[in-house]
Formats: sequence, C-alpha cells, structure tokens
Amino acid sequence: MSKETIPYKIYLNESEMPTQWYNLRADMKIKPAPLLNPGTGKPMTAEELGVVFCSDLVQQELDNDTKYFAIPDEILSFYKMYRPSPLVRAYCLEEKLKTPAKIYYKFEGNNTSGSHKLNSAIAQAYYAKKQGLKGVTTETGAGQWGTALSMACAYLGLDCKVFMVKCSYEQKPFRREVMRTYGASVTPSPSMETEVGRRINQAHPGTTGSLGCAISEAVEVAVKSEGYRYVLGSVLNQVLLHQSVIGLEAKAACDKYGIKPDLIIGCAGGGSNLGGLIAPFMGEKLRGEADYRFIAVEPASCPSFTRGIYAYDFCDTGMVCPLAKMYTLGSDFIPSPNHAGGLRFHGMSSILSELYDEGLMEARAVKQTDVFDAAEYFARCEGILPAPESSHAIRVALDEAIKCRETGEEKTILFGLTGTGYFDMVAYEKYHDGKMDDYIPTDEELAVYRAKLPKIG
Ligand SMILES: *Cc1c(COP(=O)(O)O)cnc(C)c1O
Repeated sequence: MSKETIPYKIYLNESEMPTQWYNLRADMKIKPAPLLNPGTGKPMTAEELGVVFCSDLVQQELDNDTKYFAIPDEILSFYKMYRPSPLVRAYCLEEKLKTPAKIYYKFEGNNTSGSHKLNSAIAQAYYAKKQGLKGVTTETGAGQWGTALSMACAYLGLDCKVFMVKCSYEQKPFRREVMRTYGASVTPSPSMETEVGRRINQAHPGTTGSLGCAISEAVEVAVKSEGYRYVLGSVLNQVLLHQSVIGLEAKAACDKYGIKPDLIIGCAGGGSNLGGLIAPFMGEKLRGEADYRFIAVEPASCPSFTRGIYAYDFCDTGMVCPLAKMYTLGSDFIPSPNHAGGLRFHGMSSILSELYDEGLMEARAVKQTDVFDAAEYFARCEGILPAPESSHAIRVALDEAIKCRETGEEKTILFGLTGTGYFDMVAYEKYHDGKMDDYIPTDEELAVYRAKLPKIG
C-alpha cells in the first residue's frame, strides 16, 4: 500500500476494541510447566495460591484451556480512558534509515504511568476489589509497575503498598512521588520492615536490591496482613493474559489495513509486554494459519534467555514464592545496576520460556550503550522519548531494518514501544556524558548462581 493508504497512526474505534483477553496457552501443544510448591515439589493448588493471590486471578493463572476471557465492563471502561493505543507507522525512521523495510510500533506510553503495565494493574486491582480485599502489596523495579498499580488502586479505592528496589528508589525520586500522589505507600527494598528484608540486608550489607528481594518482602507483608493479597506486574500467566489486549489491538489494526508483519520484536523483562504483543500472532503460528518470526530482546547484563537455563527456580530471592519453570539466571542473581530497571528480573515467563525452548521464538541480548544509541536515534526522528526498556526493542528493530537496506528485502517489522522515558533522564545523562557502563557478567559469575538452582525435575 502507498503512503496515502496507511496513515501515520492507526487508531481503532472504541467499538473495535477487544472485549476479551486471549489465552495463548489454549493453543499451545506443550503447556507451560505448572508452578510447584517448594515444600512438596507438587503443583500448586488453587487453594495454596489463594493465600498469596486473589482468587479470580488464581483461576486465570491455572487455566491452560479457556481460549478467551471476557474483559469485565469496569475494566473495559477504564481501558477506554487511555486505549486503544496507536499502531504507528514509522515513516520518518524508514526515511532516515533509507530502508525498504516497513516499520510499525505499538505505542503503550500514552498514559500517566508511562507504560503497558496499566493494562494488567487495573485487571488485578479489579479482582482484588471484587473479592472484598482492603488492599494489595507489590514490588516495583523501575517504578512503572508501582505507578500503574497505584493509579488502578486509587481509581478503585484500594490500599496499595509498594516495595521499590532501592537503587530505583534513590535514582528515581519523582517516580516515588507519583506513586504517593496516587495514594500508595512506598518502601525502599530491602527494608528493615520484613523478616526477609532484614535477612537480605544482613547477608549483603549496602545492597542496591533486586526485584527478587522486593517480591519476597511484598509477599511476606501480604501473607501477614488481614485483607491483603500480593500482585505481580509481569512473569505470571495471568499478566500475559491481560496484556494480550496489546496484541489483539495490534492485530486488529494490521488486519484493517492488510498489514502482515514478518518480524515481531519486543523487549523482555519478565515477558508480559512481549507475551501480550505476540499472543494472537503466535496463536496463528501454533495453529498453522500463518508464520511470523518473533524476537525477544534482553539486556546483555541480565541475559535470562540467551545465557540462562530452562529449569525450575524461585521467582524471588527470599525463596518464599512458588517455583516456576523458566529460563533463569538463578534467583540469587543480582544484575549490575543497569538503567533498564524493568528488565532486571532473573527469570522469564513460563509461557515464553516454553515457546523459546521449542524454537518458536528467538532471543537477542544487547549492550546498554547500543540501546541508548538506538533510543536517541529514535527520539530525534519519531519524537517520542522512549523508555530504556523499550529501547531494547528499538535497537533490534533498527538492526533488522538496516539489514533490509543491505539485502534490499522489504520486510514488515512490528515492535512494541512499551513506554516513555521521562523518569529515566539520569540514565540519559550518563549516556550523554559517556559515563554509562556496559558490564556483562562472565560465565564464571553466572555459573555461581546456576549452581544454586533448586534441584528439581
Ligand atoms: C516493566 C517494563 C518492561 C518489561 O516488562 P515485561 O513484563 O517484560 O513487559 C518493558 N518496558 C517498560 C516500559 C516497562 O515498564
């Protein structure tokens, strides 16, 4: 199609927005491995999970068969305040790169929390409210998930307790204030307020924290507080289910204009935006209806897919959570303090891990300065100031578009632009001043953490 027929931005009408989430697991021949009880080594039951998580969310977590879940009206109304998100044709980028590739991105940064995380935050807060709970606890790395959850909780009148990874808490004071503006309480993690926090502080004095530590603290507080449950912004099956709204919208927008992506690219921290973006496309691939290439992009400093192993591991440092089978670096692994806080988790979604293990998806690890080169190039051309996390996907989209320039192939590339980077200006400053480091863990370092994996299966 010519430039006249494909607009710069494709917005669906409200009436074209998805009204159901799509559960990719229903189309997977090999299902993702179940969560295990670390005590018994047996699959976690709904009852056991219900101690930590909201009951409707537990049902969604365990359901590998129901293909579609109706999105409750209250959630749909909330979605309509900031969705549909645009599918943007990157005409400027294509021109500047002189590539024959056609580049599209699905932009999830058009809400105050600045990322896709609000899609699952509102769903999880809704089910907590429906269950009659007082509030929820959670962890946040870069702060996007905590911000999204505090917005959702404020909207529904729920209390929200956030444990924020200490290095982010210090690097991003404004994020913290946004959360407090929405009524959340924010504690730097590891803190001295929980048993597990005190233990971690004692074992690693001066630690800058990790998502794994913060998860342990949030779970402990949820389990010990009447009327509270714990919620998680990524990794879990339920989160990928909610995030399918990204892919369903993208697919509907593509179908509306006859666009068929060859390559779908997303950054991967715990895998929720990527899992959501690719869901309906991967569904077609699994059912043999169409073929696509999928690429997960991760930081070279936290390379779960490309250098981790597929094994059962804890999701948290304190080892209080169930075991998940996933590509992991080991739950003790604390990545060097890179600037893509949302991509610092040691493990990966079980759904994506299974797809990757079956060769249905590829993965690439990219260096931090290369990511910021791409971020700046993109900002100067498309105008949007991208989040460092999202810029991992931009890096690989640029690389692929440059390859097309060299080979003359007219590939259609779709990538997820998960958020904006206004709270990441310290990172941009380091980059501009040439002070950004590109630390990549050695094989010897990774082996230390790998040796500590629980011996299961
Ligand atoms: C949290 C976050 C990510 C990574 O999380 P996933 O669950 O892997 O999607 C990516 N981009 C942004 C902007 C984020 O906030």
